[in-house]
Amino acid sequence: MVIASSAEQNHPGAAQLPNDSYTPLVGSESRVESPRYRCPVASCHQTWYRHSSDEDIPHCPIHDVVMIRDSKVH
Ligand SMILES: [Zn+2]
Repeated sequence: MVIASSAEQNHPGAAQLPNDSYTPLVGSESRVESPRYRCPVASCHQTWYRHSSDEDIPHCPIHDVVMIRDSKVH
């Protein structure tokens, strides 16, 4: 008997097999836009895009208030 699994673990190309079903997710990822944040002051146009969930929400440089999530209507 040959234990094939041990050989696959040492083969980087083996990762392509299970990831094949994930390929469509690359395209669907474009639907998830970076959340946009804006200053809660209505007359303020400061906006900021959160590209990573690790990023902290910044303050508006003008009003020194934490930006809020801008809920866009699709
Ligand atoms: Zn502001």
